[in-house]
Parts: sequence; structure tokens; C-alpha cells
Amino acid sequence: MKRWKLHMYGFMGKILRVNLTDGKTSVELLCEDDLRKFLGGRGLAVRLLYRELGRGVDPLGADNKLVFSVGPLNAIGVPGDTRFVVAGKSPLTGIWGEANCSGWFADGLKKSGYDVLIVEGASESPVYLWINNGNVEIRDARRLWGKWTFETESIIKDEVRERGVAVAAIGPAGENLVKYAAIVHTAHRAAGRTGLGAVMGSKKLKAVAVKGDKEVKVADPEKIRELGKKIAAETLTNPITRLLRDYGQAGFVPDLQSQGILPTRNFRSGVFEGADKISGQNMAKTILVRRDACPRCPVACKRVVEVKDGPFAPVSPEYGGPEYENVASLGSLLGIEDLNAVCRMNMLCNAYGLDTISTGVSIAFAMECYENGILTKVDTEGLELAFGNAKAAVEVVRKIAYREG
Ligand code: SF4
Repeated sequence: MKRWKLHMYGFMGKILRVNLTDGKTSVELLCEDDLRKFLGGRGLAVRLLYRELGRGVDPLGADNKLVFSVGPLNAIGVPGDTRFVVAGKSPLTGIWGEANCSGWFADGLKKSGYDVLIVEGASESPVYLWINNGNVEIRDARRLWGKWTFETESIIKDEVRERGVAVAAIGPAGENLVKYAAIVHTAHRAAGRTGLGAVMGSKKLKAVAVKGDKEVKVADPEKIRELGKKIAAETLTNPITRLLRDYGQAGFVPDLQSQGILPTRNFRSGVFEGADKISGQNMAKTILVRRDACPRCPVACKRVVEVKDGPFAPVSPEYGGPEYENVASLGSLLGIEDLNAVCRMNMLCNAYGLDTISTGVSIAFAMECYENGILTKVDTEGLELAFGNAKAAVEVVRKIAYREG
């Protein structure tokens, strides 16, 4: 098999493998054929898991593997080069599971010297991984178990005493093996889909912390710099990215409403009478504290909101603010037009480590069942789970994370 060659720019050429059952770690060279045939972090994850996962693997068993991967365009210094992939067999679907997330983690993993981290086996007690410029430690995380994601990140950053550390962590939902638990980074970015947070929980892996400053070699650094400038310039003039910058992804709500495709009341309608209230435009006028950006990105589509008073306070800025998927799944899909309530649910999902989309869709389905008498107050433990009941929806988010009821 043809192995890694130094002339393959854009890759670090290495896999870090960590076995949590026996605590062994190893470094392997990536195969050049795989790098050429299976593009990007996603392609590599597909290739490796297809090769390594046997038939009938239990997604929440020690035999499942969790891959964190990056591709040749990550960490090369252009806007949009920050997304990393997480993949494994999904506990939600029982088949291929994949999620991706922006932020600082891709930089940290790649500049630490790895294109891929494979986590296999399962620890007996909670641990986290600390990957620092190629070195890896499996550290005790018992005191982190049960903590929300922001607190988890903060404690780990204090503990490792390094600057520029990126953390991907689970919250109580992943620990409790909720099948759509997310892996959360910076407390408001998430590899949310397909329940890979539960796979981390099943391995008793609370978090992965990365930091690196190795050089990512590219074939023509000058061309890459030019490309970065061109992308940034176009980004600042393109009307779509300008809308994203001004109002975030939730700025698309009015357009979707006018096209009749805003998911409403468990998809029974595409038009929501409260659309303006949950839009990014209204967010900008009311509770927006600031915009936030991933490294090197001029778009700054991320929102940071704060709610200090009222029935849905607190909404803390550490947990960011909702994007389109969040205001749709936790707002219009539930018939909820109170933006503060939507933001509170969004914050709780980020804190508990829940996928906002699957959470909202599940609650919407339950609300329709309630409306049709299939679920009653006996099932909901007294909650009036009607469309539009924001207080009930907030409580259900908590119940999902802690698997109550
Ligand atoms: S700020 Fe928004 S557009 Fe820019 S990289 Fe992050 S998620 Fe993507």
C-alpha cells in the first residue's frame, strides 16, 4: 500500500488512534491512495470507518468508533477553512452518522499534527483527551461529569494552562445517552446531527481538547493568500453573505415565510404568523449583544444574545444565539413566537449538548400527538403540551436531556 509522501501538501499525513479501553495511543501514517480518492475530512472518515467497523456494531457499544477529521483545505489561512467532521455509527439511525462544526477545533487538531483522530473502546470512568502539539494524554474527567458545556470548556482550559486551546465537549445529554446528543464546541457551535454526543457519552469521553502550532504546508502559499483575499472581498459584497453578517442565518426567516416554506406546527404549514418576531431582523433590534465569527471569516454570521429578565431569563451570552435551524425548529415548528423563549431553549440545548433540530422536531411531533389525544397529561406529567406553549416546551427540553418522563 502506498504510504504518505511529503509532497502531498495540505495534509499532516497522520492518524492519532486512542483506545479508551486499554488507554493505549498510537500514531499511524495515512495512506496516499486514501488521501487522493476520499476527499476532505468527510471522505477520510467514510474510508476509515468503512474499513474498520464490522457488521452489527452497537452504536453505543465499545466497538463503535468515533472519528474526528479534517481535510486539505482546513487551517490553510482562507475564510471558511474551519469546519471539522465527526463521524461514527449513529445511535439515532443505526447507520452512517456524521456531523460537522466550525470554530477553532479543526485548527487545533491539524496543527497538532493530525488529520484524523480515531477514538475506540470505552473508558470505565469519565475522561477527556488533551492533544497538545502531537502529544496526547487521557485525563481524569470525573469532576466534569454532569457539567454543562461552557463550564466544562472553562475548567479544561484552566486545567491545561495553555493559550489557544479548542475544546469539543458533551453535556448531560451525551452522558445520558440521548440519541440525538450533540458535541459542542465554544458552547455555541455544535457537531449536532446524528447523536454522536451519545457515542462520546457511551465511551465516557467528556471532551477532547486540542492545541497546535505546527505549520500546514501548502504548495503555493502566495496563491493561497491571494485566494483568501479574493474570497474575503467577495464575501463582503455578496448580498447573501451581507444578510448573514447583518442578521445571521435567522435573517432568512422573512424570505422563507414569503415563499411559504417556513416549517410551522410540525410541518403542517409553511407560513407562521409569528415569523417576524423570531427573525434575525427582530433579534438585531432586541436582544442581540454582538456578532461572532470563526477564525479568518469576514461573514461573522454567529449571533450572541442576552436575556436578563422575564419568564425565559437567563439567556447567557456564553451560549451564543440561535441560527435559522434553531429559530425554525424551536420556534415556528412549535408555534412559538416568543424570541426569548426560543433563545432560552437554544441556550439549554447548547448547555445540555442536545441537537437543536432533532429536539425541536421531537417536541413538535409530541405536540401534534397531544393535540390529537394520542398523548395526554398523564404522559406529559401534567404539562399542557400544546403548540405555542413556550413554558412547556422549555421544560420538555430539560426532560429530554435528563431522560425524565
Ligand atoms: S462565522 Fe458563520 S459563515 Fe463564518 S465560518 Fe463561522 S459559521 Fe461559517
